[in-house]
Amino acid sequence: MGQTLTEKILDDHLVEGELTPGEEIGIDIDQTLTQDTTGTMVWLQFEALGLEDVQTELAAQYCDHQTYQFDFKNTDDHRFLRSAAGTFGAHFSRPGNGICHNVHKENFAAPGKTLLGSDSHTPTPGGLGQLAIGAGGLDIAVAMGGGPYYVEMPEVVNVRLEGELEGWASAKDVILEMLRRLSVKGGVGKVFEYTGPGVESLTVPERTTITNMGTELGATSSIFPTDEQTKDYLERVGRPEDFEKLEPDADAEYADEIVVDLSELEPLIAKPSMPDNVVPVREVEGERVEQVMIGSCTNGSYEDILPGAKMLKGREVAKHTEMIVAPASKQSAEILARQGWTAELMAAGVNFSEATCGACIGIGHVPASDSVSLRTFNRNFEGRSGIEDDSVYLCSPEVATAAAIKGEIVDPRDLAEELGDLESPGIELPDEYDGSDADLIDPNESIDDELIKGPNIGDVPLKDPLGDTVGGESILKMDDNITTDHIIPATADILMYRSNIEKLSEFTLSRVDDTFADRALEADGGTLVAGENYGQGSSREHAALCPMYLGIEAVFAQSFARIHRANLFNFGIVPLTIDDDTYEQIEQGDDITVVDDVGAGVRNGEEQFTCRVNDDWEFTAQLHASERERDILAAGGKLSWTKEQATGD
Ligand code: SF4
Repeated sequence: MGQTLTEKILDDHLVEGELTPGEEIGIDIDQTLTQDTTGTMVWLQFEALGLEDVQTELAAQYCDHQTYQFDFKNTDDHRFLRSAAGTFGAHFSRPGNGICHNVHKENFAAPGKTLLGSDSHTPTPGGLGQLAIGAGGLDIAVAMGGGPYYVEMPEVVNVRLEGELEGWASAKDVILEMLRRLSVKGGVGKVFEYTGPGVESLTVPERTTITNMGTELGATSSIFPTDEQTKDYLERVGRPEDFEKLEPDADAEYADEIVVDLSELEPLIAKPSMPDNVVPVREVEGERVEQVMIGSCTNGSYEDILPGAKMLKGREVAKHTEMIVAPASKQSAEILARQGWTAELMAAGVNFSEATCGACIGIGHVPASDSVSLRTFNRNFEGRSGIEDDSVYLCSPEVATAAAIKGEIVDPRDLAEELGDLESPGIELPDEYDGSDADLIDPNESIDDELIKGPNIGDVPLKDPLGDTVGGESILKMDDNITTDHIIPATADILMYRSNIEKLSEFTLSRVDDTFADRALEADGGTLVAGENYGQGSSREHAALCPMYLGIEAVFAQSFARIHRANLFNFGIVPLTIDDDTYEQIEQGDDITVVDDVGAGVRNGEEQFTCRVNDDWEFTAQLHASERERDILAAGGKLSWTKEQATGD
């Protein structure tokens, strides 16, 4: 039987296990990527593991999420990251140089390589045939030290693309259509492999918009084969030698097949406040828009800004609408500026921002209260924009620009008809990606050879090995689809404490219940209860690290999102699955004790644990874990476990 492209790359990198869906496999990692909100902890963990040099072919540290340096804390973090990259041997991308995925795509992404990144949108370079996976920071630290990355072998789903995009439909509409059909849980445990005759019509930047937002489906990764488009892109970015022809075998077998006819797609939009709340733009036409943003790792590159600039040439943004362009990379901004497009945007009334994630996580450009913001981003979780009752829609750059011109949501086809001289700008790549690389520091050119830690940089907390008893008061009961943004918000005032866990933990789950941290400390720890898909969204390990710091011993949920589940193991919190009836029955404040000897049960491979509630009734919770995950839990987390492995203790 032939292999899928995913299986081929995994096979090439396999160090443990077999490629059987659902089984845990260990793979070698070629490249790693860390960003500033997760990176400080990664390097502190790398240091705590006693590691001295990066062992992967390439590691890159970006400063992109929180580039505004309001006070010394972010600046301290960025300096620490620069010093860590130089000391341990990673490339360093300075604040303002752009978003990790876009800078990585332009400079390092390569077909057939594995990439592990401490950011959930790491799968972006799947558009170039790279198998890229998002993971928790501790997994990255271990991979940089040369250890394998362990992941459940995903099912590989064939997404067969037919036809070609027409008119005003764009790559964003392909992935919004996938979200419309499959929902934010539709990709859990899967890799989406794009095939079919429609593939060759899509440029690499269009493909990376699709692979980037595969994350919103909950997918482990998404990938395209390589072809003339890939070759063309790698030539334009000046790395033709990285091209490798990669495709699935003709007789490859897939777990499932989804067919998307590109020629049938129309402009789509995700309504507030979930990326899968997708409808045709025409269904929400007429809604007044006060803010429009083009940017983010999904649609913030040169190829995404240029269509907006072309549409706005000779026009103006509506008076009651503010339009912001935040380029995803400084290189994109530099090329646009050299070509004169930045001036066109400015003349139209656009506010041009630095290359940063910023607004995507509520840092800057927070929408006005009770107003609509249209964004080309990938997530519109409630409150993520920086205001609790936000109303954020997700769409393509063309739909966003049309709204900026009209001041209300409008299908660009209808606006074109109304204006008479508005044409679909289509996609255009620069002849050469020839921006300066002054902000990307090669490890061989680094000025640093020791870590520089400012007062905001604390130690990595450790947990004791798992004992006999686990449990305590259920301090919070939550609904379905709780995101890591809910658990640790990423707003500027909070994120600046990412390297100071004691302080950061005060904000744990504050978006769900602002008394949570105090109650957890008062109760001296306890448990959490959640519905389906607990921990979806960002990969930030602080969402496990801070609850661990507050003494949370177990999470009882109907299901867990992949990366967060791994992070719970990594920080010694027991992730237990419960059924619908149990979820309904448990009340916040109940005292839940796992009756069995947990430490022994975990070590012995027990899958079911009896739990007692208020000495009143009992239920059975499931622990789905590999032998390695059990060992990690028993050791009190991955840091202790990895040290044990290294020393043989
Ligand atoms: Fe940055 Fe937003 Fe992309 Fe995350 S999703 S990497 S915050 S732009």
